[in-house]
Amino acid sequence: MVFVDSHWNHKNIFALKFSKITGLTLIKETLLASVRNKHVAHAQLFMGNVGCANLALALAYVQYINCENQQETDSCGSCASCIQFSKMVHPDLHLVFPMANLEKINKEDLKAHSLKHFRPFVQENPFADIHDWGQYIGAENKQFSISVEEGRSIIQYISMKSFQAEFKIVLIWLPELMHSSTSNAILKALEEPPPKTIFILVANDIEKIIPTILSRCQLVYVPAFSEAETKQYLIENKQVDEKNALRIAKISDGNLNKAQQLISQEPDDSHETFATWMRLCFGRKYQDLLIFSEDLSKRGRENQKNMLLYGLQIVRDSLMVSANAIELVHQDENELKFIEKFSGAVNQKRLPILSEILTETFLHIERNGNGKIVFFDTSLKITNLMM
Ligand SMILES: [Zn+2]
Repeated sequence: MVFVDSHWNHKNIFALKFSKITGLTLIKETLLASVRNKHVAHAQLFMGNVGCANLALALAYVQYINCENQQETDSCGSCASCIQFSKMVHPDLHLVFPMANLEKINKEDLKAHSLKHFRPFVQENPFADIHDWGQYIGAENKQFSISVEEGRSIIQYISMKSFQAEFKIVLIWLPELMHSSTSNAILKALEEPPPKTIFILVANDIEKIIPTILSRCQLVYVPAFSEAETKQYLIENKQVDEKNALRIAKISDGNLNKAQQLISQEPDDSHETFATWMRLCFGRKYQDLLIFSEDLSKRGRENQKNMLLYGLQIVRDSLMVSANAIELVHQDENELKFIEKFSGAVNQKRLPILSEILTETFLHIERNGNGKIVFFDTSLKITNLMM
């Protein structure tokens, strides 16, 4: 598992400041303004797809709220409160997250044990998802949920006076995994928490949150990272070179978690593979296409999918080129040459059909279809299309 590898040195630890989160200017400004205008809602739901910055923003936000030396656009990062928040050990920060029963851990010790792992897990990668969490804590196949005991612990926690901070924070990661009895236990507190108590819920799947919880929260919609933001993040934080950063940004769909996983995967030769494949299809080299399909089927499924996604991107770019919109194509010089040639060879009417064929192939591969058969079948379709 990538996140527990020893290469996670101190440099990779995420600092809980707005400035460490790439882009998302608008939403940061909204959050900062809520503090400036003293309009911090007492229950907020940070909602965004897996791999977005909702948890990172929530953490930067609560650190900012309690910072003793608030700057205009960020927490100071160095006051006593900031230091405790960035380590996620501040006594006025109550962390709630899905847990699973673990062998060898008593029920009474489960929260303390899980918390000990949860802090570094988030600090290393605040864009991680529930599957990563399962792997991190060694419970991949277990059922994760937020138990009713956690609901009770929240009620107990908010009934106490705050320790040092101005605001007591209850941060719930993935409230969609709350038991209905847990949700019911906190409804009243969510609606009318004690003064200076703030609930921050951080969710990926709004459909799974019960309406009674939803209606009590102010929704903070966190958009996915743009391609440019993903690229910038990879270059600045993960020492990825420009070309690879762009490639990964293109196929990760604003999911920074996926983007980080792609860094450690085999070097991508999607361009060479796709170009070879198309050449063989144009040349109707059936024998070679059979060998090509067999070779391709032996690679990892992710590699096959990446090549298909790359192909789809080339088809889209080719459409742009044939529509005289080359300025919308963001590829390097080599690829641009290929795209120009490709869009000349496949006429404009065939490109959408090719796109459909590749999409269908992608779905077959994703559903674990036999790679050799799927790729050869696709090769025949493309060959026919080019006739
Ligand atoms: Zn501070």
